[in-house]
Amino acid sequence: GTEPFTPDQFEAIEAEMKKIVKADLPVEKRFITVEEGREIFKGQTYKLELLEEYAEKGWQLSVYRQGDFTDLCAGPHLMSTGALKAVKLLKVAAAYWRGDAQRDSLEALSEKLAKESQVKSDLLSMVNHELRTPLTSIITLAQIALESGGADAEERRSWEEVRKSSSVLLGMINDMLDIARSDAGAMAVSMELMDLGDIVASAQGTIGPLAVGARVMLTTTVAPDVPLVSGDYEKMLRILENLGSNAVKFTPAGGTVAIAAVREEATGDVLVTVSDNGIGIASENQERIFERFFQVDSSATRIYSGSGLGLALVREYAVAQGYTVTVESVLGEGSAFTVRIPAAAVV
Ligand code: ADP
Repeated sequence: GTEPFTPDQFEAIEAEMKKIVKADLPVEKRFITVEEGREIFKGQTYKLELLEEYAEKGWQLSVYRQGDFTDLCAGPHLMSTGALKAVKLLKVAAAYWRGDAQRDSLEALSEKLAKESQVKSDLLSMVNHELRTPLTSIITLAQIALESGGADAEERRSWEEVRKSSSVLLGMINDMLDIARSDAGAMAVSMELMDLGDIVASAQGTIGPLAVGARVMLTTTVAPDVPLVSGDYEKMLRILENLGSNAVKFTPAGGTVAIAAVREEATGDVLVTVSDNGIGIASENQERIFERFFQVDSSATRIYSGSGLGLALVREYAVAQGYTVTVESVLGEGSAFTVRIPAAAVV
């Protein structure tokens, strides 16, 4: 706030100053004893503390009065009624200025946010109805065409391509919708009893076909001592589906992807790890991949499709349930993403 006051702010400030200073009232200023001071400032804790402090320093006490405005003065202030007034005025002016500037920027901000969130929610329902619905039909129709058996090999390849591309698109739209919902504060988390065996099996159902298509081997294991945990079934499933489909996507044909749930002896935490022996992630990117829209290869010629939102969502979903997600990876050797479910969530 080093900007000068605008003319109308100056006028308003002047009016405020006049109210406080009451320039037309006479000023009374006289020396007082500590006892008088305690009487005059009875109930004003801050002034009484100052009074005692000044008295202790041996300063001469005085009182400054103008109308109903009473102030305590002491020592160096004594000679400076004018200065005191000036300081008061400056404080009022500064407070007014700050308050006003803040109010203006807050109003502007809230207006901007209201507009933005309207646009956002319009966009959300548009995306929901206009994109998701037809896409779902395309996927279903491609599936029916594939299963009808009437198509020859070439037609089947085309239908397969239609089905695959539309599924990728639908996945991206779903990620986008989830991120937008979470930003709108509309992400509901339910904490229920979860059997990780169920969730891993369900994730296998989604990732399995992708793995087959990519000629990647998928294995899943849930250790027998893994207990039931409390969390959000849908979100945990989305976490594993996201990590699993990434693992398949970034692993060349012939590679392996493993989903494993174990109980960590030392802490009692439950760890669900999705590991692959694919392309790996350089250490300088290992934290950045959790940022929205970050992709190690974001060039137009990149070979991997995706929105760059998956891992941001994975982390948001994990944190919403009180879990954490970390990655360990060696470039060219593979990656392991671990969801840590704290012992406190073990049922
Ligand atoms: P998307 O997969 O849609 O690009 P994500 O947020 O899921 O977005 O992932 C961000 C980036 O992190 C990916 O583009 C990729 O560069 C990197 N990444 C994620 N998972 C793996 C993995 N298992 N192996 C190698 N790189 C990965």
